[in-house]
Amino acid sequence: MTKLIISDLDVKDKKVLVRVDFNVPIKGGVIGDDNRIVAALPTIQYIIDNGGKAILLSHLGRIKSDADKKELTLAPVAKRLGEVLKRPVTFVPANEGAAVEKAVADMKDGDVIVLENTRFQDIDNDFGKRESKNDPKLGAYWASLGDLYVNDAFGTAHRNHASNVGIATAMKAAGKQVAAGFLMEKEIKFLGNAVANPVHPFVTILGGAKVSDKIGVIMNLIPKSDHILIGGGMAYTFLAAQGHKIGKSLFEADKLDLAKKLLAEAGDKLVLPVDNIAATEFSNDASHEVVSDDIPDNEMGLDIGPKSIKKFKEVLKDAKTVVWNGPMGAFEMPNFAEGTLEVGRALADLKGATTIIGGGDSTAAAKKLGIAPKITHISTGGGASLEYLEGKTLPGIACISDK
Ligand code: AMP
Repeated sequence: MTKLIISDLDVKDKKVLVRVDFNVPIKGGVIGDDNRIVAALPTIQYIIDNGGKAILLSHLGRIKSDADKKELTLAPVAKRLGEVLKRPVTFVPANEGAAVEKAVADMKDGDVIVLENTRFQDIDNDFGKRESKNDPKLGAYWASLGDLYVNDAFGTAHRNHASNVGIATAMKAAGKQVAAGFLMEKEIKFLGNAVANPVHPFVTILGGAKVSDKIGVIMNLIPKSDHILIGGGMAYTFLAAQGHKIGKSLFEADKLDLAKKLLAEAGDKLVLPVDNIAATEFSNDASHEVVSDDIPDNEMGLDIGPKSIKKFKEVLKDAKTVVWNGPMGAFEMPNFAEGTLEVGRALADLKGATTIIGGGDSTAAAKKLGIAPKITHISTGGGASLEYLEGKTLPGIACISDK
């Protein structure tokens, strides 16, 4: 399905409501990482350059009490946006009511305003969580502020909220256009289309702590992938299913039968570690060794070993599409980071392949290595990217009009 994109719209003189994902790490008003603000710039700049007015809506964190409001105001985010955009940005300390309506009415072409955190609507009202439970009246109110609606918030695309689905529904009911922003377009192109119709060989790399978190992705991608490389804590339940001893490694007993079933069904499509770095404790200082076969009872696997790295690289070398989600080991500890870093390097070295990274830890590893510019697409959405890879329909994408 081809979605309407902001570049299909005539934004001149129009009030364009944009749902951005400004859910940045913030403490005491200090933004830890402004990646998500920077990622929203192409859409905002497009509206400015084409004579539209940008009204930005975003959530930030979770609001459970008034105390949270102080920490989770979007004021510092609006300030940072002004710095990176290099032009004035007006922050409105509300997202409903007379102050909002006046600020919108006063806008001139090229102006940008940021409304207060949409999740402030989650407390202090009869409906309950108006934003997070998608109060249709709230969506309709926000929709009334604009002529066009653009959803650029991939990070919340797996949510059915007033600021995405609610607004989109009300806009469409009013005969107004609903489009994807440029960031959303990129996420759909790579996590959606490239994975649904991959250029082969297509290799999926999965890691991270738990099998249970990735089952949906494994099931969806087994039929599409030529190979699925499995590392990280989740690999040990699969190794146990093959009859290996895994010592004190991470293990999900209730997933053992499923792991056996998947191994039987997927055959040698599933590629498991052939050696591991095993340690006596979950600590960087713990004594550790390369273990080629069974892991001793008093040790746990914390990274894939050198032979596994070689095997994984061998599989990767001819790949034309690669999706990577989850670290190959407890990579926060330098002694157990090599597998994750080597997989990152292998991706960066691929020529002529589409490489896609989803998930916070693999993204962090790519940044640590400085290889991010060599990766085709690094997803901005954690939960949303996993659900998309599971093949689910995301409400925040489904609500965008088709072309
Ligand atoms: P996830 O959020 O599921 O992607 O899991 C990421 C976490 O899994 C990271 O914090 C890693 O430290 C952890 N992890 C990866 N491999 C292992 C392992 N072999 N043993 C314990 N933890 C691991």
